[in-house]
Amino acid sequence: MTERKPLIAGNWKMNLNLDQSTALVTSISAGIKDLSGVDVLVAPPYTNLFAVRQAIGNSGILLAAQNMHWEKEGAFTGEVSAQMVIEAGCSHVILGHSERRSLFKETDEMIDSKVMAAFLAGLKPIVCIGETLAERENGKTFEVIRNQLKGSLKYFIDKGSLPAHITLAYEPVWAIGTGRTATPEQAQEVHLFIRNWIKETFDKNTSDQIRILYGGSVKPDNASDLMSKPDIDGALVGGASLKADSFMGIIRF
Ligand code: PEP
Repeated sequence: MTERKPLIAGNWKMNLNLDQSTALVTSISAGIKDLSGVDVLVAPPYTNLFAVRQAIGNSGILLAAQNMHWEKEGAFTGEVSAQMVIEAGCSHVILGHSERRSLFKETDEMIDSKVMAAFLAGLKPIVCIGETLAERENGKTFEVIRNQLKGSLKYFIDKGSLPAHITLAYEPVWAIGTGRTATPEQAQEVHLFIRNWIKETFDKNTSDQIRILYGGSVKPDNASDLMSKPDIDGALVGGASLKADSFMGIIRF
């Protein structure tokens, strides 16, 4: 089986000013100097991307935007394109985060358009999926996940192939920012479901290569249990990515 290198990604959301952003990435870059075998990524607010890219230097930390628009340019006030985030220094983009889905009414169709635009521009998408508490309690978890995968990855389904550099992030909505983490077993069950879906929809080779991150109240003290599961290939971290010591605690899982 393919060895998948873990990826620990920090989603800073709408937090940290310019100085705080560059100071944090400078600390992380010092902290990972002696580390290998793990990829580290940060996703600052748009306005801090360029400065964070400068502060990253050649430390190897990956840079992502938290969102983008699917159009290349035009009258879309308040939006930015894939090319714009590339020019700010990003290699990755987070798409379909549950806050985008719920607060900004993003649909699977919109996310699919963004995934396609990101891919065609040369950005690596991190596509988020996850069920709400009500959906889990009604036994709908797998149905919701399957529908989100089918809708958000429609471009690749139609194409018949999924590039290995696409990352998926399973983030149960009830675990995001709530302090309530999925147990490693609950997370593994869904990750395995996702991997099997990739195998059935594409092929085994692809399903062996795709990284599936877990997100939802990951902290230094629960990271290693989650990461010990065979289908969990890293973490998408919100709150605990805002301080160097807690983010480093997760990176060093
Ligand atoms: C997130 O926003 O992607 C997230 C997982 O947040 P938190 O770690 O704070 O739950």
